[in-house]
Amino acid sequence: MLRKACAITEISQVMPQVYLLWLEAPELASAAQPGQFFMVSCGSEMLLRRPLSLHRLGRGGRAGQVALLFQVMGKGTRWLAERQVGDRLDVLGPLGRGFELRSVGPILAAAGGLGIAPLLALAESALSQNLRVTLLLGARAANLLYPSSLIPTGVNLVLATDDGSAGEKGRVTDVLPRLLDGHSQVFACGPLEMYRSLQGLMAKHPVMASAQMSTEERMGCGVGLCLGCSLLTRHGLKRVCKEGPVFELGELVL
Ligand SMILES: Cc1cc2nc3c(=O)[nH]c(=O)nc-3n(C[C@H](O)[C@H](O)[C@H](O)COP(=O)(O)OP(=O)(O)OC[C@H]3O[C@@H](n4cnc5c(N)ncnc54)[C@H](O)[C@@H]3O)c2cc1C
Repeated sequence: MLRKACAITEISQVMPQVYLLWLEAPELASAAQPGQFFMVSCGSEMLLRRPLSLHRLGRGGRAGQVALLFQVMGKGTRWLAERQVGDRLDVLGPLGRGFELRSVGPILAAAGGLGIAPLLALAESALSQNLRVTLLLGARAANLLYPSSLIPTGVNLVLATDDGSAGEKGRVTDVLPRLLDGHSQVFACGPLEMYRSLQGLMAKHPVMASAQMSTEERMGCGVGLCLGCSLLTRHGLKRVCKEGPVFELGELVL
């Protein structure tokens, strides 16, 4: 785990209340794995750092940079959204257990809303290993979908919206079952309600039991000490910040 003061190289609003932020962070970039997260200090008024997932690892002209994608939820993320290029952020990480790409076959990643945050780094990593990637991206309506222009070339993108304003009409969990055939590993990030529905698919689709989910809990320290982010699993309480945030779907008690 590293602690670095990282300069912001770009900050832009990409969706309503959602910001994409690039940081110059060569040491963090070389240590971070998709699915891991950082604890970001959000100004001197905020005692606790805020956990944010690794969204992308920079390549080419952005080598040595990491991207975060965050939604303004409260005081901390509002402070972050007001930062400017050149400002430095105090960042701790990379933290937690990320996704494990075990597959040699095509992977399916399903994002509910801002669940795209940790999945894009995974998609890029899989593509770099020559794996085929299907990304199912769902949101309530078209204006809440992560912009397709930011999705890496080579990803097979499937869109779904609750109101049918873009892609297929329905929730991620409605569309996902018909995409499962031909995929040897499944990853997802979204609300707990989505994971409950996905658990309903485990009996019929064995690939789902070992599907990897990125989980979220309110977090205090982020380094395993305060136990504040403990989550009930089939193997007892586990810390999202240490044993997670990625857990197998079959492990979660929802
Ligand atoms: C491992 C991990 C990775 C995360 N990655 C991302 C990410 O990549 N992008 C992103 O936008 N958010 C992410 N989050 C959630 C993010 O940390 C919170 O939204 C943020 O801490 C809110 O801080 P705040 O000061 O703005 O709001 P606060 O004032 O702390 O809270 C405002 C509202 O947000 C809710 N909230 C706060 N923390 C969480 C949480 N962990 N889960 C659900 N609701 C919460 C509160 O209940 C409250 O209603 C992640 C959380 C975890 C645990």
